[in-house]
Amino acid sequence: MTTVPRIQLSDGTSIPQLGLGTYKLDDDTVIPVIHEALEIGYRHIDTAKIYRNESGVGRAIATSGVARDDLYITTKLWNDDHLQARSAIEASLERLGLDHVDLYLVHWPFHSAGTAARAWEQMVEIREAGLATSIGVSNFLPEHLDAIAAVSDVVPVINQIEVHPLLQQAELRAECAKRGIRVESWGPLGHGSVSLAEELPQLAAIAEAHGKSVPQVVLRWHIEEGLIIFPKSAHSARLRENFDIFDFSLNATEMDAIRALNQDRRVGVHPHEGNWS
Ligand code: NAD
Repeated sequence: MTTVPRIQLSDGTSIPQLGLGTYKLDDDTVIPVIHEALEIGYRHIDTAKIYRNESGVGRAIATSGVARDDLYITTKLWNDDHLQARSAIEASLERLGLDHVDLYLVHWPFHSAGTAARAWEQMVEIREAGLATSIGVSNFLPEHLDAIAAVSDVVPVINQIEVHPLLQQAELRAECAKRGIRVESWGPLGHGSVSLAEELPQLAAIAEAHGKSVPQVVLRWHIEEGLIIFPKSAHSARLRENFDIFDFSLNATEMDAIRALNQDRRVGVHPHEGNWS
């Protein structure tokens, strides 16, 4: 079976570099998808309170036959829970049927409310209580990282941000690297909003040279950039396709050609605008 590489985090733990995203899968649909993914070899699952599927994720784990210690589970603190993070994670754990998650993320900085730093102080307590082994953030810009650094010496291990060939985020990734923060790419295939194969026809030649599909080349690009990914699919063939990216590599010319495709073009929401409660 394929062994997924692990990425070392600044708190001494490590995370499988490839996992399964679950955005838009509900409590029922997520169960067979996770079972299929675990059979293929996925061991890392990314969920969030706002995806409203934590109960389904929990049921899928409980009935999978895979040992809890072999799994890496991430969930996230929603905006309207910034001031009550402890009760929010307790409710998430209850739905997941777990006593801890491997990674808990502040989902958005909730820029308009300015509550990220207060949320982070509670995240540190949550880690100390053992409810989350590691803690990090999502959709944070340097200004938000500065805000939490002003109240705590504990640095997030991860910043989960939108990254794909159309939006490569070189500057923010460099800033995270400088601070010892690893980057997870959300929407690694374009968030389901755009087809990268159609937007970037240049990818087809690289895919053809390797006998791979365009999504496989894009996912491989993330892997070789050192990014952590969890593409989402509900379809067996695509789950397999997205996992089958460890038997080839992109050469320096191909990596540079993909880097040159950046358009600084978001398909998702800007961190200043992720203000839903
Ligand atoms: P994605 O880039 O993983 O795209 C998913 C879509 O791409 C699927 O719905 C499907 O339409 C298509 N797809 C998947 N595999 C394919 C294949 N092999 N061939 C062709 N099409 C394929 O987008 P995503 O789901 O938004 O991102 C991945 C995960 O990141 C999410 O499921 C979620 O867990 C997380 N996420 C986090 C945030 C955040 O704010 N932190 C935001 C969005 C997503």
